[in-house]
Amino acid sequence: MSTENSSDQLFNNSVKILTDLISFKTISGEDNSSLINYCDEILKKLGATSFKTFDDEKKRVNLFATLKAKHSNDKKPIILSGHTDVVPVSKGWSTDPFIATVKNDKLFGRGACDMKGFIACTLAFAPLYAKANLDRDIHFSYTFDEETACIGAPILIKELKERGIKDGICIIGEPTNMKIIDAHKGCYEYTTYFEGLAGHSSAPHKGVSAVEYASRYVNKLIELREELKKRSPKDSIFDPPHSTLSIGGVFGGIAHNVIADKCHVNWETRPVVKEDGIFLNSELDKYANEILLPDMKKVFPNSSIKKDIIGEVVGFDRVEKSNACEFVSSLTGDNSREVVSFGTEAGLFQQIGISTVVCGPGSIEQAHKIDEFIILDELKKCLNLLEGIKNKSIVD
Ligand SMILES: [Zn+2]
Repeated sequence: MSTENSSDQLFNNSVKILTDLISFKTISGEDNSSLINYCDEILKKLGATSFKTFDDEKKRVNLFATLKAKHSNDKKPIILSGHTDVVPVSKGWSTDPFIATVKNDKLFGRGACDMKGFIACTLAFAPLYAKANLDRDIHFSYTFDEETACIGAPILIKELKERGIKDGICIIGEPTNMKIIDAHKGCYEYTTYFEGLAGHSSAPHKGVSAVEYASRYVNKLIELREELKKRSPKDSIFDPPHSTLSIGGVFGGIAHNVIADKCHVNWETRPVVKEDGIFLNSELDKYANEILLPDMKKVFPNSSIKKDIIGEVVGFDRVEKSNACEFVSSLTGDNSREVVSFGTEAGLFQQIGISTVVCGPGSIEQAHKIDEFIILDELKKCLNLLEGIKNKSIVD
């Protein structure tokens, strides 16, 4: 078989697998087990060993599969990592979002670029790794619920730590047009619930207005936002350079003349350094527990303020000499380094000592949108990267 034929076959197979992956409606929060089983079966047939980790209800699954080195030496293992969930679809798609549709040079479908395209490439390439004389382990890491607040990955990371897998090179295939991304801010999301005492508006002193206390809380957040600006690191690589904070919504109250007993605030912060997240939360909690709550309890002892962590996705920090970035650069010839404004699972891998880079096919411009697509050529570029990895992972 000529090289061209086999690379065509490889590409066609990646499109076929991507088509299959898109047909699994793995919207964040929903059962993704059929997709995970599909991936697991492909890899198991090739001789991979694998383990799964689950959410509490055992409905959502992470898969970690390994093609073992045939001759191991001290080369660091490679982890190819992607999330299996996709964001929900809104009305207005030109095609069925869960049926992959190829038009000209593009493949349309929910998750085409974010990020089933990458997963499809890794699965399509897996048979070549399996056949190769590998001198390092190649791991496949497929997680659930990244889009909500990276809920799946921490469960996997904990297991990796327990199994002693805490060294290696991790490539997170989020859509970057195959550019090397080596940093992003963290993304922390919270909902804070206020419960006071309902009453008639003509007697405000007899009730505890959850809405009013929530407003004071929001004011404090805005005040702290200014503090975050002042804490901006001098050599920040981000735009804006400081940690940001945003109020996503305030919900409470039922009528003009009723004191609201319930209110909640959705808010988020994107810390440039971990310390900002710690600072913000400790100042805020102090204000809530030492100022607001005692005030509320004076009128109604059962009043409460409860802050729920929706997710605290740690930032991905730039490192001076990153094994992962240098490895990908050596394969693609691209020595540029960029930062992005979206969050990924990269910081979680980095946290346990795995050198990590974000680099994958497709553009973030098309992610999360109506008529999401991936340019087919991007899949070819990704397959080339995987080929490069193979060449650097075989006994000479
Ligand atoms: Zn993504």
